[in-house]
Amino acid sequence: MENRRPLIAGNWKMFKTCPEAVETARQLVKLIADNTAVDVMIAPPFTSLMPVSDVVKGSCVALGAQNLFWEPEGAYTGEISSAMLVSGGCSYVIIGHSERRQYFGETDITVNKKIKAAIKDNLIPVVCVGESEKERESNDTFSVLDKQVAKGLENLALSDLETLIIAYEPVWAIGTGKTATSKQAQEIHQYLRSLIEKNFGNNLANSVRILYGGSVKPDNIKELMLMPDVDGALVGGASLNAETFSKIVNFQI
Ligand code: PEP
Repeated sequence: MENRRPLIAGNWKMFKTCPEAVETARQLVKLIADNTAVDVMIAPPFTSLMPVSDVVKGSCVALGAQNLFWEPEGAYTGEISSAMLVSGGCSYVIIGHSERRQYFGETDITVNKKIKAAIKDNLIPVVCVGESEKERESNDTFSVLDKQVAKGLENLALSDLETLIIAYEPVWAIGTGKTATSKQAQEIHQYLRSLIEKNFGNNLANSVRILYGGSVKPDNIKELMLMPDVDGALVGGASLNAETFSKIVNFQI
Protein backbone atom coordinates (compact mmCIF):
# COMPACT_ATOMS: atom_id res chain seq x y z
CA MET A 1 0.00 0.00 0.00
CA GLU A 2 1.13 3.51 -0.81
CA ASN A 3 2.59 5.51 2.04
CA ARG A 4 0.20 8.45 2.19
CA ARG A 5 1.09 11.10 4.74
CA PRO A 6 -1.97 11.99 6.82
CA LEU A 7 -3.39 15.51 6.68
CA ILE A 8 -5.43 17.00 9.50
CA ALA A 9 -7.15 20.15 8.24
CA GLY A 10 -9.22 22.67 10.19
CA ASN A 11 -12.00 24.62 8.52
CA TRP A 12 -12.76 27.66 10.66
CA LYS A 13 -15.75 28.65 8.52
CA MET A 14 -17.15 32.12 9.37
CA PHE A 15 -15.73 32.16 12.88
CA LYS A 16 -13.11 34.39 14.53
CA THR A 17 -12.12 38.00 14.11
CA CYS A 18 -8.47 38.74 13.22
CA PRO A 19 -7.25 38.93 16.83
CA GLU A 20 -9.14 35.75 17.72
CA ALA A 21 -7.74 33.90 14.73
CA VAL A 22 -4.19 35.03 15.50
CA GLU A 23 -4.52 33.94 19.13
CA THR A 24 -5.92 30.50 18.23
CA ALA A 25 -3.16 29.99 15.64
CA ARG A 26 -0.53 31.00 18.22
CA GLN A 27 -1.86 28.51 20.75
CA LEU A 28 -2.06 25.76 18.13
CA VAL A 29 1.51 26.27 16.93
CA LYS A 30 2.71 25.87 20.52
CA LEU A 31 0.54 22.85 21.28
CA ILE A 32 1.65 20.88 18.23
CA ALA A 33 5.27 22.03 18.12
CA ASP A 34 6.46 18.42 18.39
CA ASN A 35 4.27 17.09 15.59
CA THR A 36 6.18 15.50 12.75
CA ALA A 37 3.72 12.69 12.03
CA VAL A 38 1.02 14.49 10.05
CA ASP A 39 0.56 17.46 7.76
CA VAL A 40 -1.59 20.17 9.35
CA MET A 41 -3.60 22.89 7.64
CA ILE A 42 -5.93 25.56 9.00
CA ALA A 43 -8.35 27.58 6.90
CA PRO A 44 -9.33 30.81 8.67
CA PRO A 45 -11.65 33.41 7.09
CA PHE A 46 -10.07 35.50 4.30
CA THR A 47 -9.61 38.52 6.58
CA SER A 48 -7.29 36.60 8.89
CA LEU A 49 -5.12 34.87 6.29
CA MET A 50 -2.23 37.36 6.27
CA PRO A 51 -1.88 37.82 10.04
CA VAL A 52 -2.26 34.08 10.64
CA SER A 53 0.32 33.36 7.94
CA ASP A 54 2.87 35.34 10.01
CA VAL A 55 2.04 33.27 13.08
CA VAL A 56 2.37 29.85 11.40
CA LYS A 57 5.50 30.67 9.40
CA GLY A 58 8.25 28.14 10.21
CA SER A 59 5.83 25.81 12.04
CA CYS A 60 4.21 22.56 10.90
CA VAL A 61 0.95 24.41 10.24
CA ALA A 62 0.13 25.32 6.64
CA LEU A 63 -2.47 27.84 5.61
CA GLY A 64 -5.52 27.24 3.47
CA ALA A 65 -8.46 29.27 2.22
CA GLN A 66 -12.09 28.21 2.34
CA ASN A 67 -12.96 29.21 -1.21
CA LEU A 68 -11.69 31.05 -4.30
CA PHE A 69 -13.01 32.46 -7.55
CA TRP A 70 -11.76 30.99 -10.83
CA GLU A 71 -10.96 34.17 -12.76
CA PRO A 72 -7.43 35.54 -12.28
CA GLU A 73 -8.67 39.10 -11.77
CA GLY A 74 -11.42 41.47 -12.88
CA ALA A 75 -14.61 43.24 -11.93
CA TYR A 76 -15.95 40.51 -9.63
CA THR A 77 -16.88 42.38 -6.48
CA GLY A 78 -16.37 40.36 -3.34
CA GLU A 79 -14.35 37.57 -4.94
CA ILE A 80 -10.80 36.38 -4.29
CA SER A 81 -8.44 34.83 -6.87
CA SER A 82 -5.97 32.01 -6.46
CA ALA A 83 -3.01 34.38 -6.91
CA MET A 84 -4.39 36.56 -4.10
CA LEU A 85 -4.58 33.53 -1.83
CA VAL A 86 -1.01 32.57 -2.65
CA SER A 87 0.14 36.12 -1.93
CA GLY A 88 -1.71 35.90 1.39
CA GLY A 89 0.33 32.86 2.40
CA CYS A 90 -1.99 30.01 1.38
CA SER A 91 -0.80 26.72 0.03
CA TYR A 92 -4.17 24.93 0.17
CA VAL A 93 -7.73 25.82 -0.78
CA ILE A 94 -10.97 24.07 0.16
CA ILE A 95 -13.28 23.74 -2.86
CA GLY A 96 -16.93 22.70 -3.05
CA HIS A 97 -17.68 22.51 0.67
CA SER A 98 -21.29 21.40 1.16
CA GLU A 99 -22.14 24.72 2.83
CA ARG A 100 -21.03 26.51 -0.34
CA ARG A 101 -23.06 24.09 -2.43
CA GLN A 102 -26.08 24.53 -0.15
CA TYR A 103 -26.06 28.30 0.47
CA PHE A 104 -24.00 29.87 -2.33
CA GLY A 105 -24.95 28.02 -5.49
CA GLU A 106 -21.74 26.03 -5.83
CA THR A 107 -22.15 23.26 -8.43
CA ASP A 108 -19.91 20.57 -9.85
CA ILE A 109 -19.28 22.93 -12.77
CA THR A 110 -18.03 25.78 -10.56
CA VAL A 111 -16.05 23.26 -8.50
CA ASN A 112 -14.34 22.14 -11.71
CA LYS A 113 -13.44 25.72 -12.68
CA LYS A 114 -12.10 26.42 -9.20
CA ILE A 115 -9.93 23.28 -9.18
CA LYS A 116 -8.40 24.36 -12.49
CA ALA A 117 -7.69 27.87 -11.16
CA ALA A 118 -6.16 26.51 -7.96
CA ILE A 119 -3.86 24.09 -9.77
CA LYS A 120 -2.68 26.81 -12.14
CA ASP A 121 -1.33 28.76 -9.15
CA ASN A 122 0.02 25.68 -7.36
CA LEU A 123 -2.57 25.73 -4.61
CA ILE A 124 -3.40 22.27 -3.28
CA PRO A 125 -7.12 21.70 -3.84
CA VAL A 126 -9.09 20.00 -1.07
CA VAL A 127 -12.20 19.02 -2.97
CA CYS A 128 -15.28 18.21 -0.89
CA VAL A 129 -17.81 15.60 -1.94
CA GLY A 130 -20.58 13.85 -0.06
CA GLU A 131 -24.20 12.89 -0.02
CA SER A 132 -27.11 14.38 1.91
CA GLU A 133 -29.15 12.39 4.39
CA LYS A 134 -32.00 12.07 1.89
CA GLU A 135 -29.63 10.82 -0.80
CA ARG A 136 -28.17 8.22 1.57
CA GLU A 137 -31.60 7.08 2.63
CA SER A 138 -32.69 6.62 -0.96
CA ASN A 139 -29.52 4.63 -1.74
CA ASP A 140 -28.16 7.33 -4.02
CA THR A 141 -24.82 7.78 -2.23
CA PHE A 142 -22.72 6.12 -4.91
CA SER A 143 -24.43 7.82 -7.84
CA VAL A 144 -24.07 11.23 -6.13
CA LEU A 145 -20.36 10.61 -5.62
CA ASP A 146 -19.98 9.34 -9.21
CA LYS A 147 -21.39 12.60 -10.51
CA GLN A 148 -19.47 14.87 -8.13
CA VAL A 149 -16.18 13.20 -9.01
CA ALA A 150 -16.83 12.89 -12.77
CA LYS A 151 -18.04 16.48 -13.21
CA GLY A 152 -15.73 18.03 -10.63
CA LEU A 153 -12.64 16.51 -12.23
CA GLU A 154 -13.81 16.79 -15.84
CA ASN A 155 -11.13 17.66 -18.41
CA LEU A 156 -8.35 17.55 -15.87
CA ALA A 157 -5.20 15.71 -16.86
CA LEU A 158 -3.43 13.25 -14.65
CA SER A 159 -0.53 15.69 -14.33
CA ASP A 160 -2.94 18.34 -12.97
CA LEU A 161 -4.05 16.10 -10.14
CA GLU A 162 -0.77 15.16 -8.48
CA THR A 163 -1.60 17.22 -5.39
CA LEU A 164 -5.37 16.62 -5.39
CA ILE A 165 -6.94 15.93 -2.01
CA ILE A 166 -10.51 14.68 -1.74
CA ALA A 167 -12.56 15.24 1.40
CA TYR A 168 -15.47 12.88 1.86
CA GLU A 169 -17.96 14.82 3.93
CA PRO A 170 -21.38 13.21 4.27
CA VAL A 171 -23.63 16.25 4.62
CA TRP A 172 -25.66 14.56 7.35
CA ALA A 173 -22.54 14.34 9.52
CA ILE A 174 -21.38 17.96 9.22
CA GLY A 175 -21.90 19.94 12.39
CA THR A 176 -24.55 17.48 13.56
CA GLY A 177 -22.52 15.40 15.99
CA LYS A 178 -23.40 12.34 13.86
CA THR A 179 -20.16 10.82 12.63
CA ALA A 180 -20.08 8.18 9.95
CA THR A 181 -18.83 4.99 11.54
CA SER A 182 -15.29 4.11 10.61
CA LYS A 183 -16.74 1.22 8.59
CA GLN A 184 -19.06 3.57 6.64
CA ALA A 185 -16.17 5.98 6.03
CA GLN A 186 -13.89 3.16 4.85
CA GLU A 187 -16.53 1.84 2.45
CA ILE A 188 -16.95 5.23 0.80
CA HIS A 189 -13.25 6.10 0.78
CA GLN A 190 -12.50 2.80 -0.91
CA TYR A 191 -15.21 3.54 -3.45
CA LEU A 192 -13.81 7.03 -4.13
CA ARG A 193 -10.35 5.56 -4.62
CA SER A 194 -11.80 3.07 -7.11
CA LEU A 195 -13.42 5.96 -9.00
CA ILE A 196 -10.06 7.72 -9.22
CA GLU A 197 -8.49 4.49 -10.41
CA LYS A 198 -11.12 4.06 -13.09
CA ASN A 199 -10.71 7.61 -14.36
CA PHE A 200 -7.02 8.31 -13.78
CA GLY A 201 -5.26 5.02 -13.14
CA ASN A 202 -3.67 3.11 -10.35
CA ASN A 203 -0.85 5.50 -9.46
CA LEU A 204 -3.09 8.44 -8.68
CA ALA A 205 -5.59 6.18 -6.91
CA ASN A 206 -2.81 4.96 -4.62
CA SER A 207 -1.35 8.37 -3.90
CA VAL A 208 -4.45 10.59 -3.63
CA ARG A 209 -5.24 11.52 -0.06
CA ILE A 210 -8.87 11.09 0.95
CA LEU A 211 -9.88 12.91 4.13
CA TYR A 212 -12.97 12.20 6.17
CA GLY A 213 -15.05 15.14 7.43
CA GLY A 214 -18.13 15.20 9.61
CA SER A 215 -18.10 15.73 13.37
CA VAL A 216 -14.51 14.54 13.82
CA LYS A 217 -13.48 14.89 17.47
CA PRO A 218 -10.53 13.84 19.64
CA ASP A 219 -12.44 10.74 20.69
CA ASN A 220 -13.25 9.39 17.22
CA ILE A 221 -10.17 10.35 15.17
CA LYS A 222 -8.11 7.30 16.11
CA GLU A 223 -10.72 4.82 15.00
CA LEU A 224 -11.24 6.66 11.71
CA MET A 225 -7.51 6.85 11.06
CA LEU A 226 -7.16 3.09 11.53
CA MET A 227 -9.09 2.61 8.30
CA PRO A 228 -6.75 1.86 5.39
CA ASP A 229 -8.34 4.39 3.01
CA VAL A 230 -8.80 7.25 5.49
CA ASP A 231 -5.81 9.55 5.06
CA GLY A 232 -6.76 12.33 7.41
CA ALA A 233 -9.61 14.56 8.46
CA LEU A 234 -11.27 17.82 7.55
CA VAL A 235 -12.46 19.20 10.87
CA GLY A 236 -14.98 22.00 11.35
CA GLY A 237 -16.31 22.70 14.85
CA ALA A 238 -13.57 20.88 16.70
CA SER A 239 -10.85 22.88 14.93
CA LEU A 240 -11.96 26.18 16.45
CA ASN A 241 -10.42 25.45 19.82
CA ALA A 242 -6.62 25.04 19.68
CA GLU A 243 -6.47 22.49 22.48
CA THR A 244 -9.22 20.29 21.01
CA PHE A 245 -7.74 20.50 17.52
CA SER A 246 -4.25 19.72 18.86
CA LYS A 247 -5.62 16.49 20.35
CA ILE A 248 -6.89 15.51 16.90
CA VAL A 249 -3.54 16.37 15.32
CA ASN A 250 -1.72 14.40 18.01
CA PHE A 251 -4.05 11.40 17.72
CA GLN A 252 -1.15 8.96 17.59
CA ILE A 253 0.44 10.12 20.84
C1 PEP B 1 -16.66 20.80 7.92
O1 PEP B 1 -17.06 21.93 8.03
O2 PEP B 1 -15.97 20.49 6.95
C2 PEP B 1 -16.97 19.84 8.98
C3 PEP B 1 -16.66 18.59 8.78
O3 PEP B 1 -17.60 20.32 10.10
P1 PEP B 1 -17.79 19.55 11.50
O4 PEP B 1 -16.46 18.93 11.86
O5 PEP B 1 -18.19 20.61 12.46
O6 PEP B 1 -18.82 18.50 11.31
